[in-house]
Amino acid sequence: MDNYKLICHKCGKEYALGNYSLCPECGGILTLEYTDEYLKEVLKEDRVHQSMWDYHQLLPPVKEENRVSFQEGGTPLLKSREIGPEIGVENLYFKNETCNPTGSFKDRAVSVCISMAKEYGCAGVVVSSSGNGGASVSAYGVKGNMNPVILIPEKTPLSKVAQAIAYGGRVIKVKGNFSQAYHAAIDLAKRMNYMNVTTTFLSPYGIEGYKTIAFEIYEQLGKVPDFIFIPVGAGPALYGIYKAYEELKRAGKTDRLPKVIGVQAKGCDPIAKAWESGQKVQACKNPETVASAISDPLVGYEQDGDLTIEAIHRTSGRALAIEDEETLQAGLCLARTEGIFAEPSSAITLAALKQMKNQGLIKEEDVCVCTLTGHGLKDSQAYAAGKTEVEIIAYGDEIRI
Ligand SMILES: *Cc1c(COP(=O)(O)O)cnc(C)c1O
Ligand SMILES: [Zn+2]
Repeated sequence: MDNYKLICHKCGKEYALGNYSLCPECGGILTLEYTDEYLKEVLKEDRVHQSMWDYHQLLPPVKEENRVSFQEGGTPLLKSREIGPEIGVENLYFKNETCNPTGSFKDRAVSVCISMAKEYGCAGVVVSSSGNGGASVSAYGVKGNMNPVILIPEKTPLSKVAQAIAYGGRVIKVKGNFSQAYHAAIDLAKRMNYMNVTTTFLSPYGIEGYKTIAFEIYEQLGKVPDFIFIPVGAGPALYGIYKAYEELKRAGKTDRLPKVIGVQAKGCDPIAKAWESGQKVQACKNPETVASAISDPLVGYEQDGDLTIEAIHRTSGRALAIEDEETLQAGLCLARTEGIFAEPSSAITLAALKQMKNQGLIKEEDVCVCTLTGHGLKDSQAYAAGKTEVEIIAYGDEIRI
């Protein structure tokens, strides 16, 4: 398998593919790297792919019988009919990842990870997530007979994990906060030969799934956009999208990368802060934002944020943070003008685009893509905040219009 290897971003050590999490030598982040020759060969022809596994040559190698898939990917790229013209961005597109099987783009990473867990004969899979990652792992884990365990912080409201419960995975509360659940997942994976599929940089394979978002955008647009806006928790999604364009470049398909814009919420923005200050990432102490899917304080894995910043730098992009109010406005605007119901953690990309346009950082003709990562139904309460009552009438009362 000379076409692939895992490389540590901290010590540079290389590994053949296997059930690795972080670098066994130094704890650094591992990513999967292909040779230039291989990328050139695989990406030689332009063709349109229907769903994620059509890109199997650009994903880690998995025997077909081990693929656990619900036909994730192949999501629409919609050209904005109203918002773009209104804000003066002629070529504004929405990559509608809400169309994925469980309602978020996490399905791409999770499908790859669960398949790899089967490939390596793991006894099961574990994830620490009370949100989209947990729902996705529950769905794919059950489908793949991989006994999924979803570890959530003690205080998580049951409504947040209802979807994960519905898919049939084993949801367990861990006393304490997110950090305890995170470490409990690491321990369980070690003790039971489970694969830890937590969607941080803990797995080198999930990122490969995220890459396919960018490959699809490349095919759907027929070119590389000028800007691509991505909501950022820890950053694997952003890293995957960056990595795809890097691979297209190495294969000779493009000579430039889009400027990748990492978007965080003001209430939890360790990466945006570090971007501004030029310092290393410091964990966020008390996260508080409506953008719950990207409210990742990075406690104990600050290095994830540093790698994300490195990727942004390589594209001459930037990181920024958005106020909740603007995020909610953007979400309502998407719903009411384009008919897309996206969760606040996704709508935040549109708020970021508007802000940068207002600051004169985006030209009218720039091609911009906002990645809408998760469905609004995941978190519909967020949009009803402050609205405590709905009008009520009795049958027979006249409804005043
Ligand atoms: C997980 C998630 C993100 C952020 O992804 P990271 O890879 O952690 O940066 C963004 N949006 C939604 C809806 C998510 O579920
Ligand atoms: Zn290392």
